Amino acid sequence: MTLKDKNLYYVGGVVRDEMLGTPSFDIDFCYEGNAIEFAKNLNILKENPDFGTVRVLYNGQEIDIASTREETYPKAGHLPVVKNIGCSLKNDLKRRDFTINAMAKNTVSGEIIDYFGGMEDIRLKKLKVLHSNSFIDDPTRILRALKFSVRFGFELDDETKKLQDKYLENINYDMSYHRLKKELKETFNLNNEEAYKRFVEQGIYKLLDNNLPTITTSIEQLISKYNPITPWIVYLGLFDLSKLELSVEEKKIIESIPTQKPKTEFEIYKMFENIPLESILLYALSVDYNIACHYLDNLKSTRVKLNGEDLKKLGIPNGKIYKEIFNYLLEKRIKNQSLSKSDEINLVKEKYGIL
Ligand code: ATP
Repeated sequence: MTLKDKNLYYVGGVVRDEMLGTPSFDIDFCYEGNAIEFAKNLNILKENPDFGTVRVLYNGQEIDIASTREETYPKAGHLPVVKNIGCSLKNDLKRRDFTINAMAKNTVSGEIIDYFGGMEDIRLKKLKVLHSNSFIDDPTRILRALKFSVRFGFELDDETKKLQDKYLENINYDMSYHRLKKELKETFNLNNEEAYKRFVEQGIYKLLDNNLPTITTSIEQLISKYNPITPWIVYLGLFDLSKLELSVEEKKIIESIPTQKPKTEFEIYKMFENIPLESILLYALSVDYNIACHYLDNLKSTRVKLNGEDLKKLGIPNGKIYKEIFNYLLEKRIKNQSLSKSDEINLVKEKYGIL
């Protein structure tokens, strides 16, 4: 990347990550002044004058550049209102979440701009908010703190922890749950038991629900073993998620968690047969761990060897009876996995009196 200008800065996560020596997911640029003006001689792909942001194509790469801006929160917990596009870099950095994310690096001189002690907090491994209203303005920062704390092995600084405790004692539930959900997903998709431990111990779960489900087994191990597509919902699916806007698939996961405890292996198979893996894992955490794991480890891959063609060859006309036959064979196979195809044929012949 060689885009340079004396008013152009790397900002936020990329500066933090460079100091931590970890790779960055994305590179944010901030232009002290009006980024859209700055970009007018570049290859602009998209611009958003309301936010002062612009996307350009530079050396084959898509780059987002934001103008310096201030933000105010007319309604606590909701999206901020942008003001003073083109403000000083210092005022832009002031609107950010933690000192470690409020640093910039000049693209020409390489100078690090650190008004709030971010470098020192990286050294101390501390997450510190920039002002005492920070969590009131934007409670999703509590989850961002959780995410960064487990990602980097950092702790909340004492004053920040007090502010978090105070906020969690008196939560304003009238907030932007859209952003909260995004942070919950990012945090729990990391599949880190420590994040869940802190979520519970620090009372962060109260942002969602005042009731704490009792979970006695390791969620991290369960997820590592079975690899669901949406780990976050396995962590949080036993909480009341009604405040979050769930997708159709996510709703299905929650609604499909069975509650009964089947007695036979065939009943176990049938109970789990058509439900998402995440629902089975949530069953493991809330109803019966052994039943769920037994299904996933030993029963899930059970398949009848005969198919419709084979039944046709036996002279059985296609119809509802096929389903009944397959279920019958499935039950037999679950009891005895070593059945061969000819064993299955014999079972069908026997049951339906075919010579
Ligand atoms: P990651 O490595 O997870 O992408 P990041 O710090 O780059 O970390 P982003 O969510 O991409 O995280 O945000 C970019 C920057 O925007 C942050 O470094 C921070 O300065 C600022 N920021 C993001 N979210 C907030 C927020 N809720 N409140 C204040 N500042 C924020």
